[in-house]
Amino acid sequence: MFQKARIKLTVWYLIIIMLVSIAFSLVIYLGINGELGRFERLQGLRLQREQQLMLPVPPPPEIHGLDLEAIAAARTRLTIILIFINLGIFVAAGFAGYFLAGRTLRPIKEMLDEQNRFITDASHELRTPLTSLKTSIEVNLRNKNLTINQAKNLIQSNLEDVEYLRVLSDGLLRLAYYQEPNGNMLFEKVSLKEIAENAVDKVRALALDNKIKINSKIENLEIHCDKKSLTELLVILLDNAIKYGKQNSSVKINTLKEDGKVIISVSDNGIGIDEKDLPHIFDRFYRAEKSRSKENVSGYGLGLSIAKKIVELHNGLISVKSEKGKGTTFTVTL
Ligand code: ADP
Repeated sequence: MFQKARIKLTVWYLIIIMLVSIAFSLVIYLGINGELGRFERLQGLRLQREQQLMLPVPPPPEIHGLDLEAIAAARTRLTIILIFINLGIFVAAGFAGYFLAGRTLRPIKEMLDEQNRFITDASHELRTPLTSLKTSIEVNLRNKNLTINQAKNLIQSNLEDVEYLRVLSDGLLRLAYYQEPNGNMLFEKVSLKEIAENAVDKVRALALDNKIKINSKIENLEIHCDKKSLTELLVILLDNAIKYGKQNSSVKINTLKEDGKVIISVSDNGIGIDEKDLPHIFDRFYRAEKSRSKENVSGYGLGLSIAKKIVELHNGLISVKSEKGKGTTFTVTL
C-alpha cells in the first residue's frame, strides 16, 4: 500500500515538474525563435537594400540561401537541445520525486504502522480473557449437575474477568486518547501542589490497604500544564510505587525547581526493577516477570506507556533509576 502511494505521489511530482519544465522550454523556444525570425527579416531587408543601391558587384544569392539554412539548422538544434533537457529533467525528477515521496510518506507510514501495532497488541490482550470467559461459560453450561453454589462461583469468576476487561479497555482508551496529535491537552497555569495533593488523595486508600506511608515534599510552584493528564501521570507513578512497594515501607513524592525546570520524583523501597527489564518498562503491555507473578499486583503494562505519552505531550522527560530488591525512583522533568 505504501509503495502504491509512493508511486502515485511520484507521478504527481513528475506531472507538476514536467508541466513547469515544458512551459519554460516553450517560452525559451518562442523567445529564441522570435529572435531568429527577426534576424531573418533583417537579412532580407539588407539584401533588398543592397540590390536597390545596385552595388557594382551584387552579393551572391547563396549568401541569402546560406543564412536561411543556418537559421533553420539553429532552430532544429534548439528543438533537440530542449527535448534532451526535458528528458534529463524527466529522469532526474523521477528519481528525486520517488525519493521525496518516500520521505513525505514516511511519517504517515510510521503512524499507520504504530496504529496497526496498537490494534494487534490490543486484540491480543483482549482475546486471552475473552477466550477464558467463553470456555468457562461453555463448560459449565454443558454441566447438567451444576449446583446453585457452583453457578454463583462461576458468575463471581466471570465478573472478575469482565472487570479485568473493563479496566483493560479503559487503559486502551486512555492511551488512544493521548495518541492524538496534541493529545487533547488543555494547557493552563496551575499549582503543582494542588495537582500532587490531588494525586496523593486518589491513591491514599490503596496505600492504606498495602500499609504504605506516603511522604510528600511539594513546593508551591506554578506550572504551565494540562492539569488532568499531569494528575493522571502522578497517580500512575504513585500507584506503581505502592503496588510494587513493600509493606510498612514508605513512598516519597518530591518536587523542586532547578534551572527553570520543574522536577518531580516518586520513589519507593519496593521490589525494584531488573536491569534487563529497565529498557522495556515504558513499552505497551510490558510487565516484568516478577510483577506478573507477584500476588495481588494487578496491571496490564499500560500505565508507564500512558505516563510516557503524557510527559512527551508536555515536552518533558521521564527517567527511572532502580535497584533490584531496594527500590525505584521515577523522575519527571518539565
Ligand atoms: P503495570 O500495570 O504492570 O503496573 P506499568 O506500565 O505501570 O504496568 O509498568 C510496567 C512494568 O514496570 C510493571 O509491570 C513493573 O514490572 C515495572 N514497574 C513499574 N513501576 C515499578 C516500581 N515502582 N517498582 C517496580 N517495578 C515497577
